[in-house]
Amino acid sequence: SAKADPILRADGIRRSFGGLTAVDVEHLEVQRGTITALIGPNGAGKSTLFNLLTGFDRADAGEWSFQGRRLNGIPGHKVARRGMVRTFQLTKALTRLTVLENMLLAAPGQTGERFAGAFARWMWAGQEAANRERALDLLARFKLDAKKDDIAGSLSGGQRKLLEMARSLMVDPTMVMLDEPMAGVNPALVQSLLEHITALRDEGTTVLFVEHDMDVIMGISDWIVVLAQGQVIAEGCPADIRSNNQVIDAYLGA
Ligand code: ADP
Ligand code: MG
Repeated sequence: SAKADPILRADGIRRSFGGLTAVDVEHLEVQRGTITALIGPNGAGKSTLFNLLTGFDRADAGEWSFQGRRLNGIPGHKVARRGMVRTFQLTKALTRLTVLENMLLAAPGQTGERFAGAFARWMWAGQEAANRERALDLLARFKLDAKKDDIAGSLSGGQRKLLEMARSLMVDPTMVMLDEPMAGVNPALVQSLLEHITALRDEGTTVLFVEHDMDVIMGISDWIVVLAQGQVIAEGCPADIRSNNQVIDAYLGA
């Protein structure tokens, strides 16, 4: 069933900024192989929760695990190595690099270890060739191959979103976390992004995403978790969430 196989589970995860409790989630599960939407009003704590789960911010409390292995206290680059990755907006520095360079920077082996010696260099050359091949495949899949030598800063808003998603797939993740992947994207590209997300799920990748557009959320989600003031106030399938009064109240600010 839809609730049988959690790939990610979190308990008692809390984060405050000064006197403000941004996240206070008693329990959260994401089921393997699903598209799960995390929704809620602005300031509900969605991005903070993403940062905590992926090791890019420190929780005040809580325990969480991915594929049965403890994840709390593990830094971001190691979380990604475990197979759980999040997208990042292209920083200013990255916009000065080409599209292909952006992909290669996101490749496995870019975060740390360098080995000395002829054997290591030979290994590394093989890895580099494999990374390049994977990058070119992904760029083709996201219809960015013709842009591979363009500066990333020259891409349209929608193409940047595609590149952000493509970059996250360089490490062949088990689960991807997308924070507002359609923000500022024109309708034609929204459709394309939706198809990519659905295709990822159909290939077995678990997807957790934050989105505001209710049609998008209801259309592609298998499960929806509603956050308000840092807490999970409801979860369910799209039909249940659509008719949930607490959810309606949260959005109306009641
Ligand atoms: P959402 O992504 O749901 O819009 P956020 O997680 O960005 O919400 O923010 C949740 C709350 O935490 C907001 O009130 C926000 O102002 C606050 N917040 C987030 N990050 C910080 C920070 N680094 N310092 C102080 N307050 C923060
Ligand atoms: Mg946010």
